[in-house]
Amino acid sequence: MTDEPRPTNLRPSILDPLFAEARTLPGVGPKMAPLIERLLGTPEQPARIVDLLFHLPQGGVARTMMGSIAEAPPGEPVTLGVTVTGYRPPQAGAGRRPFRVLVEDGTGDITLVFFGMPQARVEKMLPLGAHRYISGRIDLWDGHRQMVHPSRIVDEAGLAALPAVELVYGATEGLTSRAISKLAHSALDRLPTLPEWQDPAWLAREGLPGFADALRAEHRPESAPPAPASDGTVSRTPAARRRLAYDELLASQLALALMRARNRRAPGRANAGDGHLKDRIEAALPFALTGAQARAVAEIRADLASDRRMLRLLQGDVGSGKTAVALLAMASAVEVGRQAALMAPTEILARQHFERLTGLVGPLRLRLLTGRDKVSERRATLADLADGHIDIVVGTHALFQDSVIFKDLGVAVVDEQHRFGVHQRLALGAKGVAVDILVMTATPIPRTLALTCFGDMDVSILDEKPAGRQAIATRLVSTDRLDEVVAGLGRALAAEDRVYWICPLVAESEYVDLAAAEDRFADLRQEFGDAVGLIHGKMPGPDKDAAMERFAAGETKILVSTTVVEVGVDVPEATIMVIEHAERFGLAQLHQLRGRVGRGAKASTCLLLYRGPLGQVSRARLEMMRETEDGFRIAEEDLRLRGEGEVLGTRQSGAAAFRLASLESDAALLEVVRDDARLIVERDPGLKSERGKALRVLLYLFERDAAIRLLGAG
Ligand code: ADP
Ligand code: MG
Repeated sequence: MTDEPRPTNLRPSILDPLFAEARTLPGVGPKMAPLIERLLGTPEQPARIVDLLFHLPQGGVARTMMGSIAEAPPGEPVTLGVTVTGYRPPQAGAGRRPFRVLVEDGTGDITLVFFGMPQARVEKMLPLGAHRYISGRIDLWDGHRQMVHPSRIVDEAGLAALPAVELVYGATEGLTSRAISKLAHSALDRLPTLPEWQDPAWLAREGLPGFADALRAEHRPESAPPAPASDGTVSRTPAARRRLAYDELLASQLALALMRARNRRAPGRANAGDGHLKDRIEAALPFALTGAQARAVAEIRADLASDRRMLRLLQGDVGSGKTAVALLAMASAVEVGRQAALMAPTEILARQHFERLTGLVGPLRLRLLTGRDKVSERRATLADLADGHIDIVVGTHALFQDSVIFKDLGVAVVDEQHRFGVHQRLALGAKGVAVDILVMTATPIPRTLALTCFGDMDVSILDEKPAGRQAIATRLVSTDRLDEVVAGLGRALAAEDRVYWICPLVAESEYVDLAAAEDRFADLRQEFGDAVGLIHGKMPGPDKDAAMERFAAGETKILVSTTVVEVGVDVPEATIMVIEHAERFGLAQLHQLRGRVGRGAKASTCLLLYRGPLGQVSRARLEMMRETEDGFRIAEEDLRLRGEGEVLGTRQSGAAAFRLASLESDAALLEVVRDDARLIVERDPGLKSERGKALRVLLYLFERDAAIRLLGAG
């Protein structure tokens, strides 16, 4: 058994049709292709057919089940028969303002909201006085009921032609649920016949369908749907969903089980020496370690010194001082003549780590490697890494690339783990012999969740903040008092404070979010001129970095932002955090955002702006924020209220840990799956039996295939 990286492209060819790009489906033209990418692709990874198939509908609306405006529950899909009663053209002003259409039925009225759509087109779809059927979700905005971009607008004839069950998908601007549904149908046609990886007896006992049948049931429900609920929604077939959830969970637990087995099997190397370098660097730090930091360093060094391979999670709230711990771990590797790598999830964070470490590494040779280095720089860095002229390299996922070869990598530190998967962790581990891995996360992960995501890891916790940290005063402020808030900012700027201003997720649409941020930016700019900067998720990377750097340097003093403010970015001068529509955020997210301030010597404030009236739960949530800065308490509460995607902060980054399963509703399943996975690995550690071979297909299908490399030859 060796750790030699093997070619990764061993995916069974039977899966090729699923990993073909989604744009190869019939009917995808130059207009639609980028929309699909926006919905399901990433810059590194174009959307594939499998992504489309795993983009399950959120529900279905039975055509015959009509709702009424008065009774439609907010946030649920509904179809309404309405009459168009008026238009509200966009008001003049900066930013992109929407075109609004007023409609009513016998029970009440609502506003339909259209962003970035030519007025003439909207008027053509919804002529004044006409009767139309609209589908979509109603939400509350400013106390009014509105529907942003109805998923469907048809007349009587159009209604008759609708399918019996209309699926509702998470959509994106310009790509409707209907279009996604069509694409999913084409994708189903490409579905190969795959070997069964589940135990057939178990499937029969549980009454679960095969994998392909389950996907078909999701995307092409039978024409006779189950009886819809009173609001017209039809729940997806539970058996199909359970089957898919089980498959996904099994893939992930099997990968973890294989890794665990390997860890037990494979000896590590002693990656810590007598402590001379570590002591020297520790003594030169501008502060004394907290008790928690010292404990974590001791735990890590014990792992490093042992001949067991380290796989440890360093969990600590924002500002708890993880970087210093990581540095001392890395210094330990250098002590025995090896190298260390620190990987951050974004360019900005990699740079920031690099800059901060620069002042702390003493004699160690430190270098930065990112995807944006000039070719000549990059070549030099790669050569120096291979020759051992670099002790510590800090970088982004560029560190995974095949061209990156270390002379002898001893310790790898991965920051903000939840943005990376087990897959990447393994890829980094494969860059050396028996690499010791330290994963750092600022997300206070509740125990239940930690077991599933990090069940294979040891954990060190930084539960103590460095001395001298001041509490952050958190206040709830109604948006009615926005003027006072802005006036307060004027005073803060005069006192040389710096301010983050976060704009909310309005709809599930970056377009709309951006409009809100641009509007606020324009407003504040009128007040404060060039002191205001803007950063948002749609900006090219270098522009984002530049905006962040201007703020860090004090060239701008108010930074208006969508939720992209990078986890971990450190601007000690920032003392005020304003979060608009705080009631729309997850608690963990609010906690993370708030952690951007309170990092310097000055007292900090967090203003949670809300738009009333607040419901009981919303108010309780925000008051929780005011009461405590304990990230764990907040996380437990958040998990209870919102679900795991929010807690892990993955929903926004689009890299949810699971695509088909939900840790909330499938929690019971998870225990079973974990036991199954362990049993499988015990009985067939090389996945060589018939079922073992099918399970390999499963690992590739869910892209947990890095684990297959651990199986050794065969
Ligand atoms: P984290 O990554 O856990 O959010 P950092 O490692 O970025 O936290 O540390 C936050 C800030 O606290 C940094 O400016 C760092 O220099 C400082 N710091 C870290 N440890 C201590 C300590 N023991 N005493 C005082 N300041 C510390
Ligand atoms: Mg950090």
